[in-house]
Amino acid sequence: MRDTVLIEEMTWPEVRDAIAGGKRRVIVMLAAMEQHGPHLPIGVDTFLGYATGTRLARRLGDALVAPVVSLGYSAGHLPMAGTVSIEEPVLEATILDVCRSLAHHGFREIILLCSHGGNYHALTNTLPTLRQELAGVRISAITDFDEWIAHTKQFAAREGLDVARLGVHAAQGETSMMLAHRPDLVQMDKACEGFMGDASIRWRSKVPPPMDEMSPTGILGDARGSTADLGEKLFAERIERLASMIEAGALAK
Ligand SMILES: [Zn+2]
Repeated sequence: MRDTVLIEEMTWPEVRDAIAGGKRRVIVMLAAMEQHGPHLPIGVDTFLGYATGTRLARRLGDALVAPVVSLGYSAGHLPMAGTVSIEEPVLEATILDVCRSLAHHGFREIILLCSHGGNYHALTNTLPTLRQELAGVRISAITDFDEWIAHTKQFAAREGLDVARLGVHAAQGETSMMLAHRPDLVQMDKACEGFMGDASIRWRSKVPPPMDEMSPTGILGDARGSTADLGEKLFAERIERLASMIEAGALAK
């Protein structure tokens, strides 16, 4: 069989045989199509969703990656051109149908992860239904952006980096990961400093404030100083943390 973990690159008999042969987990990445500053493309969360899903599936060894849900709840980014947002009830219905489809094919565990902070509410809202309806399938999920923030803080402290510059959107963190994964899509000559204050109101409020009022460039943090090397370190840390939580069953509560 060809060496891919992406379901969309496989034929249906290959998917069937992979599941029968021990690929018992499937990873569902919830991404977005939203502005990422003047230096990164609209599809960052989707590109990083594929990269994270693929690396995590290879690390776990018994997982495939579902097609990334590439439209997410990005209402706060709509002032910037190119952003495409779907409402939370639409996203919730999509998550339910994606999981119903995957459960039908025999996966024993569905792992739901956000590569976009705006999707956590919708994901949280679907879990009771998923766990009741798909009772024979383990549903694992990270439902809290604070987990990602805590991890970023630990990483920054260990690496001697400024967590405010790593940022939460289109800053050193995401820019470095894009330099590691898709350098052809990064315009470092346009990377700049964005909003450097506390941005947590964005994920603590039901409707996030318009991004252009908080950061005219669309960056939260500082994109300057990003490197592919830092991006590889972030991927490695993130994948190891996710894999150990999944293997410990810590995301299935
Ligand atoms: Zn992003």
